[in-house]
Amino acid sequence: VSFFASVEMAPGDPILGLTETYLADSRPGKINLGVGIYIDEQGRFPLLPSVCEVEQALAAAAKPRGYLPIDGMPAYNRLTQQLVFGAGSPLLAAGRVATAQTVGGSGALRVAADLLKQVAGAGAKIAISNPSWGNHHVVFRTAGFELLEYRYYDPASHGLDFAGMLEDLGKLEPGTVVLLHACCHNPTGVDLDTAQWQQLIALLQERRLLPFVDMAYQGFAQGADVDATGVRLLAASGIEAFVVANSYSKSFSLYGERVGALSMVGADRDEAARLLSKIKQTIRANYSSPSTHGASLVAGVLGSTELRARWEQELGEMRSRIHAMRAGFVDKLAALGAPDFGFINRQAGMFSYSGLSKAQVHRLRDEYAIYALDSGRICVAALNRSNLDIVAAAVAAVSG
Ligand code: PMP
Repeated sequence: VSFFASVEMAPGDPILGLTETYLADSRPGKINLGVGIYIDEQGRFPLLPSVCEVEQALAAAAKPRGYLPIDGMPAYNRLTQQLVFGAGSPLLAAGRVATAQTVGGSGALRVAADLLKQVAGAGAKIAISNPSWGNHHVVFRTAGFELLEYRYYDPASHGLDFAGMLEDLGKLEPGTVVLLHACCHNPTGVDLDTAQWQQLIALLQERRLLPFVDMAYQGFAQGADVDATGVRLLAASGIEAFVVANSYSKSFSLYGERVGALSMVGADRDEAARLLSKIKQTIRANYSSPSTHGASLVAGVLGSTELRARWEQELGEMRSRIHAMRAGFVDKLAALGAPDFGFINRQAGMFSYSGLSKAQVHRLRDEYAIYALDSGRICVAALNRSNLDIVAAAVAAVSG
């Protein structure tokens, strides 16, 4: 009998499973709105020219590949802190932020989860929005957290149930971690405005909850600084401790390079130093140290005034195209006499909770070869001028 005979088949990832079904579909003109990536007008992953320029310079001056420090490339971490917290942040001047390069935003979540579990001990609890990105639950459950949910999405308005959110968070035990999406909430596209962030932060502070901001789409809603509003308000609030996980997968279109970072804010310089030592210990026990290439690309862009300006422009082009696709989709649906989809213009980022039911999503797939998630989540960034009419006509047909 094999040592592994008792190993059971783990359930597949639902989103990747949908892509497999899509790839196996032989119908011409099939469209995949189930993805979680930004695709350009031509249906391709963009290779950002700013990134390309750094890559070519790196290749021209090829260097040997030593190990990076456990917490990654120092320039990358410094530039990340400036992008996330703002270059003039008093938190940075006070040395209160411990930042480490991680294997994507997912790596930051996992390293933080392991570390926070150590701090919180047996009773570690985390509250996650309902709904949220599926991997949030997996990562924190695997790290030993008890998972709690707070109300977030209101199906009736296709917007935020802010009163429900505050009520649920107000009942949490002090010390509970509260996972928040910085912007472009995945899967709903529903975000908090500035006044709501302020109210939320006051509650987190009063109830002594630990804010944990996941920022995977910085720059996809309104711009790199505006999209960090939640982080900036937390920094200004006087809250002593909070956590930020950020990712460059989308904002630099560097999905496969796995570039992200974990930043933990402590009460003072000494606390931040202790946090950094623990982050390094956790990384060491998981994968020892991160990889060089993706971080070199990001640091190369962010570290050059000229390339950084070009990157902001390239990011702005992705953002504008998403906005144009949202508006175009809503207009076309209205012209076709479909029920009101105007809420899609109020949602932000790559995703929209379209309000389509599971039955409608299945009709889209079966009758029109258009793929969306069963939850009704569509990737607005997978729309383009060539498929917009087709998708709008199909959505109008199934929602009529
Ligand atoms: N958080 C959220 C909300 C995400 O949507 C994603 C990516 N889908 C991540 C984190 C992880 O990003 P990365 O690919 O950099 O691991």
